[in-house]
Amino acid sequence: GATGEMLLQAEKCGAVLKDMNYIQCLPGVPPNGKIRVRFHNDISRFILINTDGKRFVNEDSRRDVLRDAVLSQPGRSCIVIVDREGFESYDLLMRRDAVRGIETGDAYKGSSLKELAEKLGVPPENLTNSVEEYNRLCTTTVLGSQHHPIVKAPFWAAKSAMSIHYTMGGISINSSAECLNLQGVAIDGLYAAGECTGGVHGKNRIGANGICDALTFGMTAAETLASK
Ligand SMILES: Cc1cc2nc3c(=O)[nH]c(=O)nc-3n(C[C@H](O)[C@H](O)[C@H](O)COP(=O)(O)OP(=O)(O)OC[C@H]3O[C@@H](n4cnc5c(N)ncnc54)[C@H](O)[C@@H]3O)c2cc1C
Repeated sequence: GATGEMLLQAEKCGAVLKDMNYIQCLPGVPPNGKIRVRFHNDISRFILINTDGKRFVNEDSRRDVLRDAVLSQPGRSCIVIVDREGFESYDLLMRRDAVRGIETGDAYKGSSLKELAEKLGVPPENLTNSVEEYNRLCTTTVLGSQHHPIVKAPFWAAKSAMSIHYTMGGISINSSAECLNLQGVAIDGLYAAGECTGGVHGKNRIGANGICDALTFGMTAAETLASK
């Protein structure tokens, strides 16, 4: 829902905007999709494949690496696969969305990987090979014991594409949450905190730090103001 007019207003007051070209994305509803089926929520439980049924990235990569990898696949989209254990590890709301997703065409379920591949329209042997290779990596030091192999039927899939998750860019601030002008000097009486600021996380924010950022710099801005 963020529409950004405050950034333009801050700029009119002399504030510098920083890193406006960096956008963080996460898997979301593909074009024409209806429900966001979040099989990608637990990185130890899923694999990402492309429409050829091939795995193309380490699922626990940085968010910007994942974004660029998905955007370079055919159709700029991907398919998320979990097995029964992965499905059952998710909470009731996520499972409800998955079941509804089957009705809306956003999710798929197969009693075997071959059946799932046929429903998805991807080459069955490629999907099977991708899952087998991933399962093999789960037994090695590459992925280690932190990742669960995908072995238990039924198998589930969701089509997914990149959606905007977080605007990395915004108003440049100092550690007192004061907005900075082009010369790096604090603008009297103008403060900013949270997602409207830029540069706090660089070009890739680590998951779970968004709310922490907003609360910390919101408090800092109040303390700076109160100290004047
Ligand atoms: C789907 C999703 C999941 C996320 N999950 C996580 C998570 O698990 N952990 C995490 O840390 N972060 C998460 N984030 C990021 C995090 O939620 C946001 O970065 C954070 O909430 C931003 O807080 P904020 O107060 O800076 O901005 P916002 O929450 O966007 O608040 C800005 C407020 O200003 C209001 N506003 C805008 N213009 C005006 C105006 N002109 N006058 C008055 N009011 C105005 C808006 O209505 C809004 O209420 C997630 C983001 C998304 C989209």
